[in-house]
Amino acid sequence: MRKLTALIVLFLTIGLVCGCGEKKEEAAADKPAEAKPAETQMVKDVICNMDVDPSTATIISEYEGKKYYFCSEQCKEEFEANPVQ
Ligand SMILES: [Zn+2]
Repeated sequence: MRKLTALIVLFLTIGLVCGCGEKKEEAAADKPAEAKPAETQMVKDVICNMDVDPSTATIISEYEGKKYYFCSEQCKEEFEANPVQ
Protein backbone atom coordinates (compact mmCIF):
# COMPACT_ATOMS: atom_id res chain seq x y z
CA MET A 1 0.00 0.00 0.00
CA ARG A 2 2.85 2.40 0.81
CA LYS A 3 4.56 1.58 -2.46
CA LEU A 4 1.42 2.39 -4.42
CA THR A 5 1.05 5.76 -2.67
CA ALA A 6 4.69 6.57 -3.39
CA LEU A 7 4.17 5.76 -7.08
CA ILE A 8 1.11 7.97 -7.30
CA VAL A 9 2.98 10.87 -5.68
CA LEU A 10 5.88 10.30 -8.07
CA PHE A 11 3.62 10.41 -11.14
CA LEU A 12 1.84 13.53 -9.90
CA THR A 13 5.18 15.26 -9.31
CA ILE A 14 6.42 14.38 -12.79
CA GLY A 15 3.17 15.62 -14.29
CA LEU A 16 3.41 18.95 -12.49
CA VAL A 17 7.05 19.58 -13.35
CA CYS A 18 6.68 18.61 -16.99
CA GLY A 19 3.30 20.14 -17.88
CA CYS A 20 3.83 19.05 -21.49
CA GLY A 21 0.16 18.72 -22.39
CA GLU A 22 -0.71 22.23 -21.24
CA LYS A 23 2.11 23.84 -23.21
CA LYS A 24 0.99 22.17 -26.43
CA GLU A 25 -2.56 23.46 -25.99
CA GLU A 26 -1.33 27.02 -25.44
CA ALA A 27 0.77 26.93 -28.61
CA ALA A 28 -2.21 25.81 -30.66
CA ALA A 29 -4.40 28.57 -29.22
CA ASP A 30 -1.85 31.25 -30.18
CA LYS A 31 -2.06 30.33 -33.87
CA PRO A 32 -4.33 32.61 -35.89
CA ALA A 33 -7.30 30.99 -37.59
CA GLU A 34 -6.19 29.74 -40.99
CA ALA A 35 -9.64 29.72 -42.55
CA LYS A 36 -9.96 33.50 -42.68
CA PRO A 37 -7.81 35.40 -45.19
CA ALA A 38 -6.65 38.72 -43.72
CA GLU A 39 -7.82 40.71 -46.75
CA THR A 40 -11.47 39.71 -46.55
CA GLN A 41 -13.61 42.16 -44.64
CA MET A 42 -16.34 40.33 -42.84
CA VAL A 43 -19.66 41.82 -41.89
CA LYS A 44 -21.88 40.70 -39.05
CA ASP A 45 -25.19 39.02 -39.46
CA VAL A 46 -27.15 41.30 -37.11
CA ILE A 47 -29.56 38.54 -36.17
CA CYS A 48 -27.25 35.72 -35.09
CA ASN A 49 -24.01 37.76 -34.87
CA MET A 50 -22.22 35.45 -37.30
CA ASP A 51 -19.49 36.70 -39.66
CA VAL A 52 -20.64 36.85 -43.28
CA ASP A 53 -18.36 37.42 -46.26
CA PRO A 54 -20.03 40.12 -48.43
CA SER A 55 -18.27 38.88 -51.58
CA THR A 56 -19.88 35.46 -51.35
CA ALA A 57 -23.08 36.34 -49.49
CA THR A 58 -26.28 35.69 -51.41
CA ILE A 59 -28.81 36.60 -48.74
CA ILE A 60 -28.82 40.39 -48.62
CA SER A 61 -31.42 42.84 -47.41
CA GLU A 62 -31.42 46.59 -47.88
CA TYR A 63 -32.79 48.75 -45.12
CA GLU A 64 -32.68 52.58 -45.16
CA GLY A 65 -30.00 52.57 -47.84
CA LYS A 66 -27.77 50.21 -45.93
CA LYS A 67 -27.01 46.66 -46.97
CA TYR A 68 -27.31 43.88 -44.47
CA TYR A 69 -25.87 40.43 -45.05
CA PHE A 70 -27.24 37.24 -43.57
CA CYS A 71 -26.07 33.68 -43.13
CA SER A 72 -29.46 32.22 -43.93
CA GLU A 73 -32.88 33.06 -45.33
CA GLN A 74 -34.26 32.60 -41.83
CA CYS A 75 -32.08 35.37 -40.40
CA LYS A 76 -33.05 37.69 -43.26
CA GLU A 77 -36.75 37.11 -42.67
CA GLU A 78 -36.28 37.76 -38.98
CA PHE A 79 -34.53 41.04 -39.74
CA GLU A 80 -37.16 42.18 -42.23
CA ALA A 81 -39.91 41.40 -39.75
CA ASN A 82 -38.26 43.71 -37.22
CA PRO A 83 -35.35 45.74 -38.70
CA VAL A 84 -35.05 48.21 -35.82
CA GLN A 85 -32.84 46.64 -33.19
ZN1 LIG B 1 -27.63 34.33 -39.23
